[in-house]
Amino acid sequence: SENILEVKDLKVSFRTYAGEVQAVRGVSFHLKKGEVLAIVGESGCGKSVTAQTIMRLIPSPPSVIKGGSIRFDGRTEITQCSNKQMEKIRGSEMGMIFQDPMTSLNPTMTIGKQITEGLMKHQKINSADANKRAIEILKMVGISNPEGRIHQYPHEFSGGMRQRVMIAIALACSPKLLIADEPTTALDVTIQAQIIDLMKSLSEKTEASIIVITHDLGVVAEMAQRVIVMYAGKVVEQGTVDELFYNPQHPYTWGLLKSVPRLDQDTDSDLVPIPGTPPDLFAPPKGCAFAARCPYAMKACLEIDPEHTVLTDTHSAACWLLHPDAPKVERPQEVGG
Ligand code: SF4
Ligand code: MG
Repeated sequence: SENILEVKDLKVSFRTYAGEVQAVRGVSFHLKKGEVLAIVGESGCGKSVTAQTIMRLIPSPPSVIKGGSIRFDGRTEITQCSNKQMEKIRGSEMGMIFQDPMTSLNPTMTIGKQITEGLMKHQKINSADANKRAIEILKMVGISNPEGRIHQYPHEFSGGMRQRVMIAIALACSPKLLIADEPTTALDVTIQAQIIDLMKSLSEKTEASIIVITHDLGVVAEMAQRVIVMYAGKVVEQGTVDELFYNPQHPYTWGLLKSVPRLDQDTDSDLVPIPGTPPDLFAPPKGCAFAARCPYAMKACLEIDPEHTVLTDTHSAACWLLHPDAPKVERPQEVGG
């Protein structure tokens, strides 16, 4: 298969005392080998839950995979793997980079040990070779004097350097799939740019396919080839970066793009909130989940959730405005090219 990952109609819920939260409500997408795919959307849209479900990092309970399929590398059905199988896959074929390296690095263990531990366990290489690999990989992520720094602890590194170490740990096993969840959010703007540059060059140098989860459209433009826009647990639009930035079709995507500061302004490109709040996922609305915030909402929007309309091989969006009988609306001037 030319796809490293195929996600079909994935549904994930959380059981809580207050009831069941439908965090992911039928998500489908694929990731080609060597591709960088961005998943964007506000917090709570299900992007992190989707990623963590792909790596099976959320304990069950409270999370429950309610349906769908996650096919990895054409063979492994992730939803059916045992915890033991998943541990092996995570140690040898998947890597994850989190927002805050301090919470995912072990403060009591040297950086070198944290890189070599997984290598020795999952790749069955001896400690001398693992050390060599650790030094090589730290060099690759731009850490100088790696021979000395492998003996240091996380607190001896700056925030940006710690994120480089996280990336090194994730890359050490030469993963086929790398998932980066808000990899630059906790860093200041200059360091953000350096980490984006690093990830971009790594995506060119390594074979890894990458999913980058972000609310920063600057990261999308810099790194990704394709984008998925999620809202209230569903994919509402997907396309190439050009299709999404220059020919967006979903009112929610219009809202996201409108909120991007101009590139010539010296600010970061974090999203400015769109008025209103996402729906309650304890009891999702029966129609379009964006209707309560959408300036174009029609009667049909409240009744029936729109299917995706296919616009090109790569571009689709789920909105009633794309129905042939829908009224023609003027898209916001400031959106698109
Ligand atoms: Fe707005 Fe209706 Fe489209 Fe939903 S389906 S985004 S409410 S126009
Ligand atoms: Mg998140």
